[in-house]
Amino acid sequence: MDDVLRRCEVDPAQGLTALQAQERAALQGRNVLPRAAVRPAWVRWLAQFHNPLIYVLLLACAATWALGDWVDAGVILGVVLINAGVGFLQEGRAQQALDAVRDMLAHRATVWREAARHDVDAGDLVVGDVVLLGPGDRVPADLRLLKVKGLQVVESALTGESLPVDKACDPVPATAVLAERSSLAYCGTIVASGQATGVVVATGAHTEVGRIGQMVRDTQALSTPLTRRLDAFARQVTLLIVLMSSLAFAVGAWTRVLPWMDLFLAVVGLAVAAIPEGLPAVVTIVLAAGTRQLARRQAVVRRLPAVETLGAVSVICTDKTGTLTLNEMTAVRVALSGRVLQVSGRGHVPEGGFSHAGQALNPEADEELLDLLRCAILCNDARLLREADQSWRTVGDPTEAALVVLARKAGLVDEVVRRAWPRIDEIPFESDARIMLTLHHDHAGHATILLKGAPEQVLALCASQAGGQTLDPAHWRQQEVAAAEQGERMLAFARCRLPAPQAQLSMADVARRFDMLGLVGSMDPPRAEAAHAIAACRAAGIQVKMVTGDHAVTAAAIGQALGLRHEAPLSGEQIDALDDLALRERVAETDIVARASPAHKLRLVRLLQADGHLVAMTGDGVNDAPSLKAADIGVAMGGKGTEAAREAAAIVLTDDNFATITRAVREGRIVFDNIQKSLLFMMPTNAGEAFVLLVSILLGLSLPVSASQVLWVNTVTAVTLALALAFEPGEPHVMAQPPRQRDQALLSPALLARIGFVGALMVLSTFTVFEQALARGLSIEAARTAAVNMLVAGETVYLFNSRHLMAPCWGWHAWRGNRVVFIVVGVLFVLQALFTYEPHVQRLFHNEGLDVWTWLSIAILAALQFGAVECEKAWQRRRARRRATALNPATSGS
Ligand code: ADP
Ligand code: MG
Repeated sequence: MDDVLRRCEVDPAQGLTALQAQERAALQGRNVLPRAAVRPAWVRWLAQFHNPLIYVLLLACAATWALGDWVDAGVILGVVLINAGVGFLQEGRAQQALDAVRDMLAHRATVWREAARHDVDAGDLVVGDVVLLGPGDRVPADLRLLKVKGLQVVESALTGESLPVDKACDPVPATAVLAERSSLAYCGTIVASGQATGVVVATGAHTEVGRIGQMVRDTQALSTPLTRRLDAFARQVTLLIVLMSSLAFAVGAWTRVLPWMDLFLAVVGLAVAAIPEGLPAVVTIVLAAGTRQLARRQAVVRRLPAVETLGAVSVICTDKTGTLTLNEMTAVRVALSGRVLQVSGRGHVPEGGFSHAGQALNPEADEELLDLLRCAILCNDARLLREADQSWRTVGDPTEAALVVLARKAGLVDEVVRRAWPRIDEIPFESDARIMLTLHHDHAGHATILLKGAPEQVLALCASQAGGQTLDPAHWRQQEVAAAEQGERMLAFARCRLPAPQAQLSMADVARRFDMLGLVGSMDPPRAEAAHAIAACRAAGIQVKMVTGDHAVTAAAIGQALGLRHEAPLSGEQIDALDDLALRERVAETDIVARASPAHKLRLVRLLQADGHLVAMTGDGVNDAPSLKAADIGVAMGGKGTEAAREAAAIVLTDDNFATITRAVREGRIVFDNIQKSLLFMMPTNAGEAFVLLVSILLGLSLPVSASQVLWVNTVTAVTLALALAFEPGEPHVMAQPPRQRDQALLSPALLARIGFVGALMVLSTFTVFEQALARGLSIEAARTAAVNMLVAGETVYLFNSRHLMAPCWGWHAWRGNRVVFIVVGVLFVLQALFTYEPHVQRLFHNEGLDVWTWLSIAILAALQFGAVECEKAWQRRRARRRATALNPATSGS
């Protein structure tokens, strides 16, 4: 071990200096893992051609080429390249969006530098840094362990083994295999329990994970249950289309209306037009756009499928401290054995004083108070710092920081007290036990164990109270309830003087032998936006449950301020006592679960899921990982949460704020809506294009659009219109509806009916324009150009129809919100103008310019089509309303 330290040139008691760290960082580079190799661009480009549609097209291209039809071969090849190019770019952009979001979650590490704890970016670690590990931490680099206390590490990232392994300081032979090197902690593994100090021996690419070069889960896959479902759907549709095309070919061959070559091209055009090739791409874009929106709103998505699940959430189980409250913990009350003191001041500025029954009190002369405050500082990892600009800053857990500030108000400086009573050992706080213990020796050789934690846990370990009097549990309980009723978070403090120094704390020290010192009550005001967010959830049919480790009375007081159902809160003890059936009833009748441990959270999640709910659960501790994984959406806290919780979660809130969850649910609903809208747009437009050809082949009519023209329409609309709906902002009433069912079909029967309706309208209007043009004596070329423009115009107006699923699409809101719609329509206008009037393009597609009357009839038919779809929507709305009234006459007013 000394050997290691010598090689790393560091004194573990001091740690590196800031200067040393800087110098070494310049030499060694940052402690970041090399990115997992992404697929090279050319592989991604080639992958775009691996698609049945492209095979058909390439075949058609080869056939036309062989027959000497250069123009059609060229057009088809152009279509193939454009399609592949668009797919290539879209995939790249979606992946970029996801990677960018991923990079927002920087890993943090606690280091010992210049004889003090510092919280740094894990990327800044250098060889020789002394790192402190605690429960839930992610090991930030490869460490040689110097001091270990019950350390267990999950090394699944490295070895695949999911059970935690024990670690120790004893050297292991250099020949030991990776899994047996118990004196080393490896970068990327997670601390399951215990604590340790270690010195960094390797960083970045030199660590074991770096060397293996497989940083798992670094880049997200772009596939989700929904994209897979749609892929499968697209495959089925493709099969159907192939059958349909074969039928068309057979019929066409029999009627002999078209020459062989034209028939072949028409059938290829039909197939290409009908296949919804853009569908999976659009879904990926919608998901990526949603992910980026979420990141902008402080919610980082770690698993892409969460975006689509979010919208269906029906219960949110949330933490209290910091999530529903501001986490501006301020100690406001100190209860001693005979007195209750009030504390003035707010936040982490140490200004304010103590008073007793309205009389100011000199804290520096009050030994009983000072004893309590010393304990509060020593059994504490937070620090109070003065910044260069004279402002105050706290480091560490806010509950603990409030205590440091409180002590400073009595003239006790954390650093000074801690130097006088160095900490020898500790048992850290965990939300299961709800206590924390530290062992201290003073410089005269006296030893003391200090205890801090939830009052009932601490009281159970006390035998006496300050001054050696016998313990008066009734007094303390009364004090606790009085404070909790005000919504204060309570901590109790106790001390045990040891007859002789000891080197370590063990569970045997957690016994009924402590002296109760007193209670401190801290106020943590509820967040103003949390109450609004809870009301918004209720309007959206989502239940909110506060699941907290805090006292039931405190929780109820905060719950009341937030508008939750706070009568009869459920407690962890009751959860243990009740069977599933009884618990289900209790859970249904209250919104507050207090004194809940991680095991209770897990049971709650399972129970709610069994009731058919889709549950989002927040968590921050190590032991929350199981319930975060079990929940449909695990939400971890980016600020106060442990890495273990983050690793298990689907979403991380960078601002730890409850309101962010509500916004995320809203975004999830929008994502689902937009996927529906895109689907609703693509299906009938593709069908319309295809059916124009199919109908004319089957009926033996002359084609109103040629095969290459259909390919043109299919391509220009796929790269413009089809993308626009991915960027729709939410419907105004998106949070005024109950959550959708977990397994709800993407398209309801009503929407399916619309697809048929719109497809038919498009075919009808295209034929009308075509026949009308011929009847007016225009050439077949002009009539076809008109028909193509009609198809495109029909798709464009239908795009505006599709911006709202059911709500009407006129009025001022149709003009705002989604700029992309107008951009793509503008681009499409330019493309169509080129198509119709540019001489080269005209020659390629056999087009002719159109006169005013033709344009006018196209415009009128498009407007009629728009109106018809809006009427259909209005009719659907009325039907839905009537059905709702029939089901529930009481709410017919709304
Ligand atoms: P919450 O759901 O409010 O975040 P926790 O599980 O964090 O609740 O805390 C539960 C109880 O444990 C608190 O009411 C408090 O009494 C006690 N507690 C919280 N933090 C600490 C700590 N750092 N040290 C000792 N006890 C603590
Ligand atoms: Mg907490």
